[in-house]
Amino acid sequence: MPDQYAVIGNPVAHSKSPQIHAEFARQTGQDLTYERLLAPIDGFTATAAAFRARGGRGANVTLPFKGEAFGYATSLSERARAAQAVNTLSFEDDTIFGDNTDGAGLVSDVTRNLGCAIAARRVLLLGAGGAARGVIEPLRGQQPACLVLANRTLAKAQQLAQSFGGAIEALSYAALAGRQFDVVINATSASLAGSLPPLPPGLFAEGALAYDMMYGKGETPFLAFARGEGAATRADGLGMLVEQAAESFLIWRGLRPDTAPVLKRLRQAGA
Ligand code: NDP
Repeated sequence: MPDQYAVIGNPVAHSKSPQIHAEFARQTGQDLTYERLLAPIDGFTATAAAFRARGGRGANVTLPFKGEAFGYATSLSERARAAQAVNTLSFEDDTIFGDNTDGAGLVSDVTRNLGCAIAARRVLLLGAGGAARGVIEPLRGQQPACLVLANRTLAKAQQLAQSFGGAIEALSYAALAGRQFDVVINATSASLAGSLPPLPPGLFAEGALAYDMMYGKGETPFLAFARGEGAATRADGLGMLVEQAAESFLIWRGLRPDTAPVLKRLRQAGA
């Protein structure tokens, strides 16, 4: 019987994770299955426990359950602890190990796939929700020249910055006027609603990267803004999705798949 994995979410029908992991398994010759599990909004733990009971070896966790998965895990990686969210569960004998691969996925996509260094660059992170929290520690690990957090609700950005020991500057969007950055990452959900945070002009330094964690929506308002403002490189979050999946695969199977052909196929399929 092949080893069983799953992605648990609500909704989950749109998830590309089964396709990505199936391609990773084919590529590396691993015998496994990977399915979608729709958990009721109040039924994450029951769904995960039932999957584990029927032999599940691990699961990815997506919206809105990453916080609950953090509570469900009995052992946590450092990066999951920093993110206070879990997107990768490994079911071991007596342990439920929780990790978070979102930040590592973002860093891999930016530095390897897009060839854009984060080290010694000025980085601006937009948003102060779960996605922003999840990538702060891995971004800091790259030792940027500075990391600035901007959010519509300033108090949330300030709280988040404080929870990381204050080495991060928290600003309102208006206070960004006159500042320039080499890497600007949109971790807000504004693109989901087709809107744009109120960003001042002149934000992008020469050669800057504009990165929207959102994917699958064509050119988002943020990426259109970045194009108009002359950002040299613009990217959506599809690469982050594939890279975080590769990190999960590595945790589960001890092998790192080649992400490039998988990302290429998803792009060709219009994702
Ligand atoms: P949350 O709901 O936790 O946070 C939403 C954030 O967006 C808050 O900071 C909120 O600001 C801000 N926001 C929402 N609407 C607007 C707006 N119109 N203008 C300005 N700011 C706005 O969401 P998540 O952090 O979980 O997710 C954010 C995005 O990241 C989603 O689009 C998600 O799809 C994407 N994502 C992509 C991943 C990938 O693999 N590519 C992985 C994880 C997430 P405020 O605090 O003021 O309300």
